[in-house]
Amino acid sequence: MFEKLVVKQCCNYNNGKCLGAMFKFAGKEGDKYRNLVQWIDKSKAGKQCLVTQGKYCDFFVNYVLPALEKKEDYQKLISKYKQIVIESEPTPKPENEKKETKKYKLTCKKCGSKFETDVPQRKYCETCQKEVRKKNIRKAVKKHKNRLRVNTSASVTN
Ligand SMILES: [Zn+2]
Repeated sequence: MFEKLVVKQCCNYNNGKCLGAMFKFAGKEGDKYRNLVQWIDKSKAGKQCLVTQGKYCDFFVNYVLPALEKKEDYQKLISKYKQIVIESEPTPKPENEKKETKKYKLTCKKCGSKFETDVPQRKYCETCQKEVRKKNIRKAVKKHKNRLRVNTSASVTN
């Protein structure tokens, strides 16, 4: 039932079968020169087209569908494909969401309480961190004031 979506639209569709030629851009998004990387997906190559079987195809969803969505005569079919296929399939998450921040269990060097953080170099718990920061600021201000005093007294004697 989804033949119309792929027969002329998917570059991998070949007589009911999939060529399995995958591609993606290597390098960071926004790079001026991005390389096109191509490879053959053996799980798809030479097999019956997934879309025509009413199955989820990551290549179709990621590369073919976005272009088709702009064309009006495909919209009904696309919404059907989405309803039947995509919504029943767990959508692959974008990569940055997949990364889990690792939590480190550390002991505070000041008060000795245990705390969790994603920065393994941290020395103090949240409360002490704030205190230490405040103290450091105070120290820095004092230093700065002292320097001013030295400078002014120096300029007086000179
Ligand atoms: Zn602490």
